[in-house]
Amino acid sequence: MKKIAVMAGDGIGPDITEQAVHVLNAVEEKFHVRFQYEYVLAGGAAIDQCGEPLPAETVAVCKNCDSVLLGAVGGPKWDIPGGPRPEQALLGIRKELKVFSNLRPAKIFPQLKSASPLKEEILADGVDILIVRELTGGIYFGKNGIRANGLSAFDTEEYSITEIERVCRRGFEFAEKRNHKLCLVDKANVLESSRLWRKIFTGIKSDYPEVETSCMYVDNAAMQLVKCPSQFDVIVTSNMFGDILSDEASMITGSIGMLPSGSLGASNLGIYEPIHGSAPDIAGKDMANPLATILSAAMMLRYSFDMGEAADCIEAAVDSVLDEGWRTADIMQEGCRLVGTRQMGQLVASRI
Ligand code: NAD
Repeated sequence: MKKIAVMAGDGIGPDITEQAVHVLNAVEEKFHVRFQYEYVLAGGAAIDQCGEPLPAETVAVCKNCDSVLLGAVGGPKWDIPGGPRPEQALLGIRKELKVFSNLRPAKIFPQLKSASPLKEEILADGVDILIVRELTGGIYFGKNGIRANGLSAFDTEEYSITEIERVCRRGFEFAEKRNHKLCLVDKANVLESSRLWRKIFTGIKSDYPEVETSCMYVDNAAMQLVKCPSQFDVIVTSNMFGDILSDEASMITGSIGMLPSGSLGASNLGIYEPIHGSAPDIAGKDMANPLATILSAAMMLRYSFDMGEAADCIEAAVDSVLDEGWRTADIMQEGCRLVGTRQMGQLVASRI
């Protein structure tokens, strides 16, 4: 039995997590597994009920679960200057669960190719990339400051061997579960810290003989992502490079309502969530696309529960629903059939 903390959050959060749970229920039946859900408060909903975005009880329940499924948090209701912010729940739970790697897949569904800003011939070989970004170190957390009365400012990129090795090993492990290719993205021609990344990466690659490796400078990687995205399987990189490249890669797919993500630390306990926000403009209107959250649940099965076959099954169900022409409003195309959040969830669950 696996315990899943469901952190629905605000806006469309409750609508989309409900559909992901429907799909997980269908997985339970098909694969003879058991999921137990623990519903916890976070974000604006927690501010309303407890006065803080991440109550201690929420953290305690999450730590006692095997994984966390997160909807989204935030909304204009809590945009109060000086008040507690719902988004603090996100940073807080990541810190509490010590997740040091962020997993951002960028996949183009052939049915939605026309939503991509890239030319069709560039997408001919498909796009299915997983970016593994280091999340808790590097320049965003290094020494910084202002000198000479504001005439200069500095930020520092510093990585320890431990920080580099653990995230690189994650990259190798994910490559083993996918298409066995891993590319380290760095700036080793300029940065000392990048040279350390390369040394560690090269030093551990013999532990993963089935994975084909490469190294690429970040400026080239930014170009290659739009020139020939099909060359990549898994990319592992530092915090800042990953921040930028994962947003670039997600734009290639063209549909924000379709993109899942996950964050993992040393254990299998991960946080899985769509990359979009709480979309207050469509909250409660049965209009939100639940597929990013459903695909986040699939990632949870693959990367936290080692249930690759069940994850494949969810992804195949999403594929067939798209093949059949069902669309929520955000991905609607000519000749397709418009459905709401609930019906989309039911359709995917019924295809499991
Ligand atoms: P957003 O992602 O919520 O919405 C941007 C646009 O995309 C909106 O038009 C919205 O309707 C649409 N959209 C987003 N998800 C969709 C879905 N599943 N289906 C259909 N359409 C979808 O970003 P925003 O408007 O900048 O932020 C709204 C709130 O969400 C803010 O309070 C922000 O702080 C918060 N936010 C939370 C997270 C998170 O919880 N991880 C991430 C980003 C933003």
